[in-house]
Amino acid sequence: MKFNLLEGRHLKDIASIVGSDRISTGISNLELHSRDQSQHPPSLPEAVVWPVNRTEVSDILRYANRHLIPVTGWGSGTSLEGNPIPVFNGLVLDFSLMNKIIEIRESDFQADVEPGLAYQDLNEKLRHKGLFFPPDPGARATIGGMIANNASGIRTVRYGSTRANILRLTVVLADGEVLEMGCRASKTSSGYDLINSFIGSEGTLGIVVDATVRLRGWPEEFSTATVNFGDVETAGKAVFEIMRSGIEPASLELLAPECISVINREKKLGMEVSPTLFIEFHGASGKQLEYVMGIANEICEGLDCYDFRQGIERKEREELLNARYELAEMIRRSHPGCSHIVIDVAVPISAYPEIISMARSESRNAGIPGYTFGHAGDGNLHLVFMGKTGDEKEWDIIDMISKRIVETAISLGGTATGEHGVGIGKRGFMKAEHGRSLVWMKKIKDLYDPNGILNPGKIFP
Ligand SMILES: Cc1cc2nc3c(=O)[nH]c(=O)nc-3n(C[C@H](O)[C@H](O)[C@H](O)COP(=O)(O)OP(=O)(O)OC[C@H]3O[C@@H](n4cnc5c(N)ncnc54)[C@H](O)[C@@H]3O)c2cc1C
Repeated sequence: MKFNLLEGRHLKDIASIVGSDRISTGISNLELHSRDQSQHPPSLPEAVVWPVNRTEVSDILRYANRHLIPVTGWGSGTSLEGNPIPVFNGLVLDFSLMNKIIEIRESDFQADVEPGLAYQDLNEKLRHKGLFFPPDPGARATIGGMIANNASGIRTVRYGSTRANILRLTVVLADGEVLEMGCRASKTSSGYDLINSFIGSEGTLGIVVDATVRLRGWPEEFSTATVNFGDVETAGKAVFEIMRSGIEPASLELLAPECISVINREKKLGMEVSPTLFIEFHGASGKQLEYVMGIANEICEGLDCYDFRQGIERKEREELLNARYELAEMIRRSHPGCSHIVIDVAVPISAYPEIISMARSESRNAGIPGYTFGHAGDGNLHLVFMGKTGDEKEWDIIDMISKRIVETAISLGGTATGEHGVGIGKRGFMKAEHGRSLVWMKKIKDLYDPNGILNPGKIFP
């Protein structure tokens, strides 16, 4: 790829589009936009721009395309695979000033939003209306970043990932064309589903400038339980049996004992240190929840769980959820002087016990401590490895184990990445996972962005 360096005349031309107060080449701004939350090496953009509307985005892209300047979208930079790192430098478009809720249509369960809006801010606004936007990656992610990564979270098992909660998008293509896609009906059979080629594309096909998101009603009732098992593999079997029973949990999370220890140390929750499932059901009545929780209880007891604690009150539930959201951060804090890698494989649910068992024995055999947790109900397994920064020998082992785990997930019919995206770190697995489809993905990329200016260096090996 042959891109041009940003020269003084380019900066002047772009400043004439957005105003000189919304473009920066200051080193602190460049550094802030050079790294995400992963271990991937930082790379400085040449300038950061803060657009405020679609016309500015369109004018910038048209200009960048003509002058072969790379452009990378930026939400909050909370990605875990290097997705927003501008590896070919160029321009970063930071969407923090495009963060408005354009309209909430309560009766249609929809909201129109700008891409820089954090999903927590949307949910805060919706709280008094009894509605919410379900995908919840935990970090302070923006809707644009969530669309680009197809993010998901604790409630995805019931409400789907970001993909399932987007109805309409306005996207600016590399040449500046503004394209609207999708509609406000809750379903459609009309033509090709262009929206889904943009969701999960990590800003490599176009830049999202507004979206219509699907909202859900807050459940009247919820019921939460934690369940303790003798070993992680059996907890994994319980996950499979619960999902097979069709009782549809709203959350089904797995936490291995090493994660509980970290939570206890930081949050003083005094939880039993053993493999633990966090289960939650949402429903219209207490009776309905009692029934489904009873089935979950029967399944777990049938697998010799040794404690099934239900009826967890709101305050404790909030504490548990917050601890789960902050877990990756707490693990990192427990290992000063170390770097981390987060495995994010997902497999068909019947293979969940197998991938857990394989991943944990790889980690045990190599003598590298890993932290196992995940959105278990989606078959999504995370394993965080902490390795001494700069210790090449240790990192060679971690890379080898990580590779084996991902390859096993793919061979089980799964994916290298359940929710964090390909970014930089998973590009090497794309051929194994997609075969010939990868060739067609590249053709789509070339069609939308023939000069390859949009977030270059991502997704494709
Ligand atoms: C502690 C922690 C926990 C996390 N837990 C989860 C989890 O449970 N589930 C999960 O899915 N993720 C999780 N993540 C990862 C992260 O929060 C998500 O990937 C999130 O979607 C990133 O959003 P962002 O706004 O930070 O986007 P960024 O990181 O800024 O960007 C993400 C991608 O979107 C592109 N982009 C940004 N804005 C636009 C736009 N307007 N148009 C087109 N492309 C754009 C960027 O170029 C980049 O490729 C976690 C991260 C942290 C730090």
